[in-house]
Amino acid sequence: MDAPHLAVIVPCYNEEEALPHTATKLIEVLKDLISENLVRGDSYLLFVDDGSTDSTWEFLRSLKKREGERIRAIKLSRNFGHQSALLCGLLEAEYDIAVTIDADLQDPPEVIVEMVRKFHEGYRVVYGVRKDRSVDSPLKRFSAEAFYWLMEKLGTRVIRNHADYRLISKEVTDVLRKMEEVNLFLRGMIPYTGFPWTVVEYERKRRVAGETKYPLRKMISFAWEGITSFSTVPLRIITVTGFVIFIISLIMTIWAVAVKLSGKSIAGWLSVVLPMYILGGLNLFFLGILGEYIGKIYMETKKRPRYIVEERI
Ligand code: UDP
Ligand code: MG
Repeated sequence: MDAPHLAVIVPCYNEEEALPHTATKLIEVLKDLISENLVRGDSYLLFVDDGSTDSTWEFLRSLKKREGERIRAIKLSRNFGHQSALLCGLLEAEYDIAVTIDADLQDPPEVIVEMVRKFHEGYRVVYGVRKDRSVDSPLKRFSAEAFYWLMEKLGTRVIRNHADYRLISKEVTDVLRKMEEVNLFLRGMIPYTGFPWTVVEYERKRRVAGETKYPLRKMISFAWEGITSFSTVPLRIITVTGFVIFIISLIMTIWAVAVKLSGKSIAGWLSVVLPMYILGGLNLFFLGILGEYIGKIYMETKKRPRYIVEERI
């Protein structure tokens, strides 16, 4: 097979401090890949400026001037968030294989070589998986564990300890293009596509410069996005709870009638408590049933492909 055309996609949000280091390093790796004939000679880096307010774009302009063909850049009109910037890069660029990597050198670029080798072995998705989380704060580690636990319980395919450092081939991009959803959670969307996949392990480092663009607030909203984009289990919980409470309310109704019949209650008591139990139970139960339909409507609106062909002969 001919060497594949590679695009390395780098989302950048206010990365003026980190980018000079990252660009140098990535260009080095790109040159190595080309000289080893692992990728095509016109492979390139694509930077997506996600509405930075610092000098990120000016830096990218000067980088383009200096490096020419090897560099491409896209500037988004405002800050759309990491996932949207990644998707923009993946859908706007042309390539046989694309690697997405953060702009802060936390993910070592040398690993790209290993990812490309895996592609040559026949894999179509290669997930970068971090070996240990010792550089993370205990809070981040704990929240990550809780997140993976919950996602697995809710039945969503995700790769443990994999962030958005990965290689995908253009077949996978073609599927992404068909997924018209606006609630983006690539870590769930890519495993959803299937295709032969594997992982490469690496050690995640500290940021080379600048600070994190993912404060706790954004992390929580990202996790919530992951849960609600792929699962309607939270709605099912309402149905189940509603059903259980409905059954309990039936039992309470029988009990209230029995108390009434035994003559131990004061006048008017039954007509007050009975509607309370019955309506309470029915209310939650019916709310759950509504939720079930809303869940189905939600999944329909995503317009995901119903099947994905890997090969035809
Ligand atoms: N990023 C982005 N848009 C945003 C936030 C982050 O494009 O709104 C980029 C950022 O420049 C970096 C990557 O996403 O390349 C990951 O962000 P960061 O390193 O701050 O996250 P962390 O590694 O701390 O989780
Ligand atoms: Mg980072």
